[in-house]
Amino acid sequence: MLLCKKIKIEVSDQDGEALEFMQAKCRGLYNWWVMRLRNGDRWNLARAKKSLRESKAHDPELRFVYGKLLAEVYFRLDKAMQAFFRRVAAGEKPGFPRLKPRHQFFTLCYPAMYLEVQGKSITLPTGGGGKWGPKRYPNIVAHLTEIPPGSFHQVAVSRDARGNYYCSFVYDDAEQDAQDGRNKQSKRQQKRKARPIRDDGIVAFDLGIKTLATGVTDQGRFYHIGGFKGYRWYNRQLDKIRSKRDRCKKKSRRYIHLSKVYKRVAERKRNKQHDCLHKASHLIAHRLAERAVVIGDLSQRQMVIKKQENETPKERNKRRRRNRAVYNDWGLYRFVQMLEYKCLRFGKELSIIDERDTTKRCHVCEHKQDMPLWKRTYRCANCGLVMDRDENSAINIYQRFVAGPPPHTL
Ligand SMILES: [Zn+2]
Repeated sequence: MLLCKKIKIEVSDQDGEALEFMQAKCRGLYNWWVMRLRNGDRWNLARAKKSLRESKAHDPELRFVYGKLLAEVYFRLDKAMQAFFRRVAAGEKPGFPRLKPRHQFFTLCYPAMYLEVQGKSITLPTGGGGKWGPKRYPNIVAHLTEIPPGSFHQVAVSRDARGNYYCSFVYDDAEQDAQDGRNKQSKRQQKRKARPIRDDGIVAFDLGIKTLATGVTDQGRFYHIGGFKGYRWYNRQLDKIRSKRDRCKKKSRRYIHLSKVYKRVAERKRNKQHDCLHKASHLIAHRLAERAVVIGDLSQRQMVIKKQENETPKERNKRRRRNRAVYNDWGLYRFVQMLEYKCLRFGKELSIIDERDTTKRCHVCEHKQDMPLWKRTYRCANCGLVMDRDENSAINIYQRFVAGPPPHTL
């Protein structure tokens, strides 16, 4: 399957300037097209690509941008437009392609065949040269901080909030394995090999805010996977830094310094959180013995609290805290995405089922009762069951999966 490896690169000041120049020009072209489409122009990929010649005549500086990168702009916009058409046809929220903001780096996509990799150095071409006239910037030679995959399909150059540049290599892991079978890394993976997979094993997970995932297996064993713990500590820091910064004069030295600190702390938090999700999803997809993995369908869950007309300060606080938890700190949607590709990769079957009422229902007697988030223990008013709410919910998901129509693979 296709995987992606993101590697930090080091570039000289001049090469950094060239990257900034090219991404700004690509973004300009993209935004100009979005504006045209917004004003009612019809989108046609072939015609748009042909118009590049006119665009170059209008803005000669486009010649200093590598041509394949400009071509990629049209493909990127085409993807955005096709997704928009699909949403309109499906009656969803349309979401017209948006303008790309100036402070964000416009990702540059290089097709592999025009790139040269030697050991840890990669050459990224710029525009101009030969029959295309003089070059403003020489080709970029970047130093990769890790060894890239042996064969790859595409490379995307991006920048994070703190100004570091990265190359993301898209590669096929099957090709890669064939290429370096005796690699050190694969040896390490073999040593850590999980227990043999039980083909008939099932594990069902309830995903939540307090604990990331609570699971139950067909053998009645429970798993508790705690999520990222430190976000409150980080949030407190971030809030403090931001409020300090906002009291400074804009663009002052202290303001800029605090902005930098803020970005650094925010990045550390993001990395920690990301790492935690990776580890948790890897544990489920690779280390657990059960072949079938079941989770609830998150799209049916109402996690975010909507703003009410005349809410009390207490309600307002609660809404803000909760929505911050859901949007920023929790990362469940990303977690599910990771789980999806990791299960596929390690030969597990992931099923996503309707999870309506799985928290409210008693798994013994089917009695239903309200379960506000602060109630951590399920106490059944009918049969007297006392159980952790997440465990009860995981059992419900398990039971629903077993009782439901068999999966199409059977
Ligand atoms: Zn009960």
